[in-house]
Amino acid sequence: MFWIGVYLALIVIPLGVLLLGERPRGGGFWWDFALVTGYAGLAMMGVQFALTARFKRATAPFGIDIIYYFHRYLASIAFMFLVGHAALLYLKYPEVVGRIDPRHAPAYMTLGWLGLIAFAAIMLTSLWRKRLRIEYDNWRRIHVVLAVVGIVVAVLHVEGAGSYLESPLKRALWTLLAVSWLALVVHVRLVRPALLRRHPWRVAEVRRERGRSWTLALEPTDGHVPAYHPGQFAWVTLRASPFAMREHPFSFSSSPTRPGRVEFTIKELGDFTARIGQIQPGETAYVDGPYGSFGIDRQPQAPGLVFVAGGVGIAPIMSMLRALADRGDRRPLWLFYGNRAWDRIVFREELEQLAGKLDLTLVHVLGEPPEGWTGERGYITREVLARHLPADPSALHAFICGPDPMIRLAERGLRELGLPLRHLHSEIFDLA
Ligand SMILES: Cc1cc2nc3c(=O)[nH]c(=O)nc-3n(C[C@H](O)[C@H](O)[C@H](O)COP(=O)(O)OP(=O)(O)OC[C@H]3O[C@@H](n4cnc5c(N)ncnc54)[C@H](O)[C@@H]3O)c2cc1C
Repeated sequence: MFWIGVYLALIVIPLGVLLLGERPRGGGFWWDFALVTGYAGLAMMGVQFALTARFKRATAPFGIDIIYYFHRYLASIAFMFLVGHAALLYLKYPEVVGRIDPRHAPAYMTLGWLGLIAFAAIMLTSLWRKRLRIEYDNWRRIHVVLAVVGIVVAVLHVEGAGSYLESPLKRALWTLLAVSWLALVVHVRLVRPALLRRHPWRVAEVRRERGRSWTLALEPTDGHVPAYHPGQFAWVTLRASPFAMREHPFSFSSSPTRPGRVEFTIKELGDFTARIGQIQPGETAYVDGPYGSFGIDRQPQAPGLVFVAGGVGIAPIMSMLRALADRGDRRPLWLFYGNRAWDRIVFREELEQLAGKLDLTLVHVLGEPPEGWTGERGYITREVLARHLPADPSALHAFICGPDPMIRLAERGLRELGLPLRHLHSEIFDLA
């Protein structure tokens, strides 16, 4: 509630300040309404820089994946406000807006149109990135450049138009606000990478796992492993500078109970992950983390835990199971682990060992089971879950990680079996 309050305050207070003291008269309702939507849209766009700045305290209560979804939806709303602002003024006050042609329009109006084009380009490339086949790293660079250009020209437009900014105090406040948004960009793109570069890590081991996956073990060169919780993740940079924006998020598969190094288990998927197997021990890496709120440590009172994993979604769950084993936890645990084939099951042998140490019911669910397979097959449905969970599982907490359709199916099944929504915790491996 506190952070939602902070977010609202960052948008509402600058708007409220505009209404203090002397105000322009005679514009009429639609004029004022159009200006309010413009200012609100701009303030919301500015706050987007704070949302994606990875402030740990502000993101921890929600989880960073939720923050990114929030960022996406709020940006869409802010964009609609900006379009509404331009459309209203253009349609109702054409004489004030004047001509769009930059040769005949005042510079500040042209800047306003440019800002709108930049934000439209952000929306288009973000909502349809996959359809437009824009590679993720390229998209991120385009995104940052367009966002900075959009905000700078929009602020110059506001300062040039000057509506509601008659007093020097109001103008100073909005200038300060704009500077703080840009300061966030400097922090994220320059200060944080500079700090990361001062604490390099070393690749200690690259281990082949089943299912076209690799475990990458990293050790900090200064010996300091930041405290993390099982289930959290970090942004990892390999063979690039932290300034290059080539970092990828991976969950810790290691447990914090085994200090000295961290491990990530990574499935070959695209350009970056397909090259993990070529990384050599001794190479430099950078680790920005931990982040995320997915994990058992946030639910210490749960009487029992259900884990549902699909493919490499086992990585954060492995971290939790290893931690539970090392802590001597005796609560009842269930792991439903979906894979296509028996020989693709990452950590298959270690899971058998963990089942011996923990009170763990291990349920493999195979899409293409071998001949003679008597275990579960197909998807992890309500029926599969019901066959292994107690008759009333409503007090249990569930942790789900895997492909999106699997998460939705498992969540639905668990809900139908009586688990309340607040007992379901999912990690989405896709931020955009
Ligand atoms: C919180 C979180 C935890 C994750 N944990 C794991 C894990 O433990 N093991 C694992 O194998 N995978 C994990 N992933 C997924 C992993 O980050 C992507 O598979 C990987 O970044 C793909 O990169 P690529 O260049 O090989 O593939 P590409 O084919 O280029 O990308 C495939 C998709 O991955 C996403 N992606 C690509 N690059 C990035 C990036 N730099 N940042 C964010 N998303 C990106 C995009 O949606 C893209 O469409 C996790 C993702 C998130 C968000």
